[in-house]
Amino acid sequence: MKRLFLLLLLITSINSFAQIAKLERVEPMSWWVGMHNPKLQLLVHGNQIATNEVQLSYPGITLVKVNKVENPNYLFLDLEIAADTKPGKFAINFMQKGKKNATYSYELQTRDQAAGRVQGVTSKDLVYLLMPDRFSNGDASNDVVKGLQETKLNRDSMYFRHGGDIQGVINHLDYLKELGVTTVWMTPEIENDMANASYHGYAATDNYKIDPRYGTNALYKSYVAQVHAKGLKVIKDIVHNHIGTGHYTFKDMPMKDWLNQWPVYTQTNYRDQPVMDIHASAGDRKQMLDGWFVPSMPDLNQRNPYVQNYLTQNHIWWIEYAGIDGLRLDTYPYNDAAYMADWAQKLQAEFPYLSIFGETLVNSVASQAYFTGGNVVNRGLDTHLPGITDAVIKDAIYEALNGKMGWTDGVNRLYATLAQDFLYKDATKNLVFMDNHDMSRFYSMVNEDFNKYKTGMAILLTMRGIPQIYYGTEILMKNYSNPDGLVRSDFSGGWKGDKANKFIASGRTEKENAAFNYISKLANYRKTSAALSTGKLMQFIPQDGLYVYFRYTDDNSKTIMVIVNTEDKAKSLKTARFAERMEKASSATNIITGEKLNNLTNIAIPPSTSLVLELN
Ligand code: CA
Repeated sequence: MKRLFLLLLLITSINSFAQIAKLERVEPMSWWVGMHNPKLQLLVHGNQIATNEVQLSYPGITLVKVNKVENPNYLFLDLEIAADTKPGKFAINFMQKGKKNATYSYELQTRDQAAGRVQGVTSKDLVYLLMPDRFSNGDASNDVVKGLQETKLNRDSMYFRHGGDIQGVINHLDYLKELGVTTVWMTPEIENDMANASYHGYAATDNYKIDPRYGTNALYKSYVAQVHAKGLKVIKDIVHNHIGTGHYTFKDMPMKDWLNQWPVYTQTNYRDQPVMDIHASAGDRKQMLDGWFVPSMPDLNQRNPYVQNYLTQNHIWWIEYAGIDGLRLDTYPYNDAAYMADWAQKLQAEFPYLSIFGETLVNSVASQAYFTGGNVVNRGLDTHLPGITDAVIKDAIYEALNGKMGWTDGVNRLYATLAQDFLYKDATKNLVFMDNHDMSRFYSMVNEDFNKYKTGMAILLTMRGIPQIYYGTEILMKNYSNPDGLVRSDFSGGWKGDKANKFIASGRTEKENAAFNYISKLANYRKTSAALSTGKLMQFIPQDGLYVYFRYTDDNSKTIMVIVNTEDKAKSLKTARFAERMEKASSATNIITGEKLNNLTNIAIPPSTSLVLELN
């Protein structure tokens, strides 16, 4: 009799499941006790979930509010977690007419505050940017994953997936260490289940899941731990501005204004000026901020508080889960400024050492500085954004290498650009780079001129800020970004059966080794040099095609002198003009060659070269 009753109960509950609640997701799927912010908003997604009552009971947890929104397939639960709440699990029950329709076991964990987690990335570091699909295939079993939209692997096409993954990066951490890299930045690793060109990673379809073609969440966490164990750091690339059209919140939107909607498809104008221009048209500004990046990437409405919580909590979740050291914020100028300022403060409150830099592909120092925190040019809104990707310095270095010296041209462009650093609160938090996945490769941009290549790398690695190298630049990979897939080719040796293995010296050509060794020498020197990693910068007005700057410690105990000869003829540099920084020096050591210079009155510089000297 009792057994029959149980069976009946089971049948009834199966029926009610079929009719009503199918719990698809609860996000964030777990959380931590001891967070700075006691508030947590859970997004619950499931068919007709809003027709249920929500019950939960756990000491320290208050269910403050159950928010119903336009779409009954969503509930947003506002929780408050008391400071003394113990870690543990509790059931969130979804009830109808007193019966349990669905349940979710929610876990609150203890925060992992071990040393070496969330350390921050600073000017002491050298960042290596790579695209995980194109770097190395460490696990062939995940190349094609059943159930995902893109069903083919095709290494012959730049538009298809090539099979690279997180394990491939783990396998080559020693290579990066040898190069002198201290920090790995991968383009986004989270799921991009899109039908076409899913490899680039900027069209998220699940913000809480590593793309199964790259690995699992557990592998990502293990990757960060293994990177840390090698004394290296991790940057995660995140996107606030948009998601992919395969995202569940696009296919089944919580409410109409989850996204920025337009009567007809409207693309952003990609212009930063309307955001800061005191003469800007309101329409231009709205199109910049609310227009969609491309048709496959819907624009999130960051004025919607549910969107705000969803994004902010997602980023906090990843950092606490994996112990990430820094974040790179994609398409920063396209986001809502007030939300981004709130976001930065919330992240910094949870992780005081976390580094953050925003992608700002704009055209002037003023435009870049506008987006950074604590400065004088952004008219009252403190963005709390410490740094940006310094594309303007990159352009100025190119002009120094390729241009002809004039009052504002050639190397004077670089000089004048650095002279505008007063616009930043702290320019040393900017990321300095010569190329990345969205632009032509550095070696091609200097017309494969090896001297210019070395000078560019010397400037990059002795400049103020956080230097970044794009994968393959160290082995002279080349191409123009038209289309961008051409600068995203495979790192040779990353795949079993590749003709050459560029990860080892014997697989590289003589010239590739010369490039690798040049960077490795400077990068490894930089790690131990207080003058280069944290010192001040003093530059002198360029003369006669020669540009001279110094990096030096506060106490003047360490000084590095950089001399750039931008002309194609040998020069002799008279150094009397640099007495401010040189008067105590009697000799110098060439960092690259180890050669000693005992007479510093006149320094000989061969055509189109640069010298990095440690003054003694
Ligand atoms: Ca693979």
